[in-house]
Amino acid sequence: MTALPFDNSYARLPQGFFARRPPTPVAAPRLIRLNRALAEELGLDPDWLAGPEGVAALAGNAVPEGADPIAAAYAGHQFGQFVPQLGDGRAVLLGEVVDRNGRRRDIQLKGSGPTPFSRRGDGRAALGPVLREYLVSEAMAALGIPTTRALAAVATGEPVVRETLLPGAVLTRVAASHIRVGTFQFFAARGDVEGLRALADHVLARHYPEAAQAPSPYRALLESVVAAQAELVARWLLVGFVHGVMNTDNMAVAGETIDYGPCAFLDVYDPRTVFSSIDQNGRYAYGEQPRIALWNLTRLAETLLPLLAEDETAAVAEAEAALAGYAPRFEAAYHGGFARKLGLAETREDDPALAGDLLKRMAENQADFTLTFRNLCAAAERPEAETAVRDLFVDPTAFDAWSGRWRVRLSQQERDPTATAAAMRAVNPAYIPRNHRVEAMIEAAVERSDFAPFAEMLAVLSRPFADQPEHAVYAEPPAGGGVGYRTFCGT
Ligand code: AMP
Ligand code: MG
Repeated sequence: MTALPFDNSYARLPQGFFARRPPTPVAAPRLIRLNRALAEELGLDPDWLAGPEGVAALAGNAVPEGADPIAAAYAGHQFGQFVPQLGDGRAVLLGEVVDRNGRRRDIQLKGSGPTPFSRRGDGRAALGPVLREYLVSEAMAALGIPTTRALAAVATGEPVVRETLLPGAVLTRVAASHIRVGTFQFFAARGDVEGLRALADHVLARHYPEAAQAPSPYRALLESVVAAQAELVARWLLVGFVHGVMNTDNMAVAGETIDYGPCAFLDVYDPRTVFSSIDQNGRYAYGEQPRIALWNLTRLAETLLPLLAEDETAAVAEAEAALAGYAPRFEAAYHGGFARKLGLAETREDDPALAGDLLKRMAENQADFTLTFRNLCAAAERPEAETAVRDLFVDPTAFDAWSGRWRVRLSQQERDPTATAAAMRAVNPAYIPRNHRVEAMIEAAVERSDFAPFAEMLAVLSRPFADQPEHAVYAEPPAGGGVGYRTFCGT
């Protein structure tokens, strides 16, 4: 079998970091989708990947030369409860490649069979969640949000046993790395300071080389992860994304969105929105995400205490100082982002209140999040286009009362309305993975082996900021505003 250009730095870390474990072969692999553009970016040959040897590798039926398959160990807080041992229970890291831009990327099979970390699970993934992750992670990438990517989806030809029998699939996930807050917790919980230091050094070298040069590298590491997460969560909020399961094992220290189990996008704007069926207390609601990210980062900071200073009081002070960077970084990204969504070239002191007032009125009037901002783009150019925004509000006069202030603010900037509208269209997507469309796409694939909606939706979502009149149906909100939509963890 052709060698792939793997260089497996994680597999060179000490024993306790992982278990060596090849993927478990499947009965009848069939390629559903290969992400050719991503393959090329990774320096892999898409034609080889789509051929028999490539599909065997993507299914886990053959281990390509150069791969060193491992299941990583990690721990994590799940819904606030600490679990000292989780780990890759249904995934193996095949290896790392250095892409065309010189970035190191993990190539991982998800749904590839049991590992020593599977606990009671079967190590497998069902087709529906695999397609959901493929579609939503690629949509996030097209929106410009840091995320793991999908290289391929392969049907296994084997059923998986859930509440019913479902078709199985394997997703090939690509990530800057799969190192999580929970990976640090794994070593901290065991009091393994040497393991912790080896992990921190690995993360510094791999993700934050400039921090490695700082006077206090571990403090700089924490600051870097804090900054990356603050930016990331702000960007989620700006597109109405609800991650749904922000456990510390689902927070990647590289700052990419990871784990697309129960995630979903808002239809109507309501910061209390929770989609996940198991999130009964709304811990991971849309509007809670900034607070939870800081909670998770605080758990990361705790693990780093032994590395931050000899003396515990000094270490705590270092950690607190680094965590204090979260709020200003988040607020700058959040308020700057909403100012740009409103067509404001720069943020002034009153702009956060202007955006906040619109959001409040949207929540009170069940206005669709994506459509409100997208339709505002035309309204910036042509005041008569405002009808398409106000009609989204249960009481359209609630919008009118706000838009007068917005127009005054717009008139105070030099930029002409056409340029403003164009700038707004570049940050306010027309197309997001609408929940009702995602469900219809999954149903077609699972019930009827019809992958045409998956392919069409992927194509539409690859250009989220372009008007695509022939695909206008994909921009439409669900009947009833999508209230009551439920998601399930992708097990
Ligand atoms: P998640 O909810 O996807 O973040 O997964 C939490 C933990 O459960 C991780 O350790 C997973 O590897 C593990 N897990 C989830 N589904 C399965 C499965 N079907 N078989 C084995 N382990 C699983
Ligand atoms: Mg996970």
